[in-house]
Amino acid sequence: MEKILEIKDLEVRYYSDRKTVRAVNGLDLDLSPGKVLGLVGETGAGKTTLALSILNMIRAPQGKIEAGSISFAGKDVLSMSKHELRDMRGKDVAMIFQDPMTALNPVLSVGEQIAETVLKHEGLTKDQAWKRAEEMLLTVGIPAERSKDYPHQFSGGMKQRVVIALALACNPKLLLADEPTTALDVTIQAQVLDLMRTLIRDNGTSVLFITHSLGLVAENCDEVATMYAGEIVEYGTIDQVFGKALHPYTQGLFGSLPDLSEATKRLKPIPGLMPDPTALPAGCFFEPRCPYAMEVCKAAHPKDIDVGGHLVKCHLFDKEGGAGRKA
Ligand code: SF4
Repeated sequence: MEKILEIKDLEVRYYSDRKTVRAVNGLDLDLSPGKVLGLVGETGAGKTTLALSILNMIRAPQGKIEAGSISFAGKDVLSMSKHELRDMRGKDVAMIFQDPMTALNPVLSVGEQIAETVLKHEGLTKDQAWKRAEEMLLTVGIPAERSKDYPHQFSGGMKQRVVIALALACNPKLLLADEPTTALDVTIQAQVLDLMRTLIRDNGTSVLFITHSLGLVAENCDEVATMYAGEIVEYGTIDQVFGKALHPYTQGLFGSLPDLSEATKRLKPIPGLMPDPTALPAGCFFEPRCPYAMEVCKAAHPKDIDVGGHLVKCHLFDKEGGAGRKA
């Protein structure tokens, strides 16, 4: 089946006067039509940079995609003209940001913002676009008569619903959802996720679901990728990764979750911090924090190993890696 998204060897850098931040490092990722892929990892892992790269929105001169390729529905995103990018963004590929206030224009009513997007991409008349805006607001549980209200007149949860209505107004093929519910309280979070699931199911949209929460991934995704220091260190189906996480970092993420079936006094955090992206280790980026680190981990950067269709970037799974801790 043709992939909706194919990313190969992606390298993204940010430059300041003296330093180079290696934000994304040789990253490969695929997504099939209609699938929901959860992308997990700590703050600073490069998840948002990856999403912005897919939209070709890394801004020069500070940021630059230095190498690699991104293909969306068979088209090379990195060589698209400005016109082609404008067509793709908002129509074929939409993004839901973590903070709805950064995604909404404070001086336009929510109805105008949705109608404007539809007008630009769908070739409707103004009346048809306004009708579509009202329909989209209704779909996310906001009465049509509130379409003339401005973002500041809505609560946080309702603003995020507006952002979702905006993102889904043109039936995108790919939705980039960057921590879409982090800013919401738990009950609104559940409503918003329910709504996203229904809309995604009805429209067959593929989703890259960026989150810190393994619980949200388990409930909402088909596949999961763990990102650490700008690279994917583990990738598999939900059953594979939740059945048996292979990478020590993913195991650490699971270990730092509370287990309600056991009386535990303290959670087990992953020791240490993410490495400085301006001075990444020569070998495995996780080596300074890894409880299984070996000599080879300091010297050689691990490659992807395929363990029955479950990918892991770790020397423990090399044939010649030495420690022999196999899946
Ligand atoms: Fe740990 Fe080595 Fe595997 Fe890196 S390659 S995660 S340091 S065992």
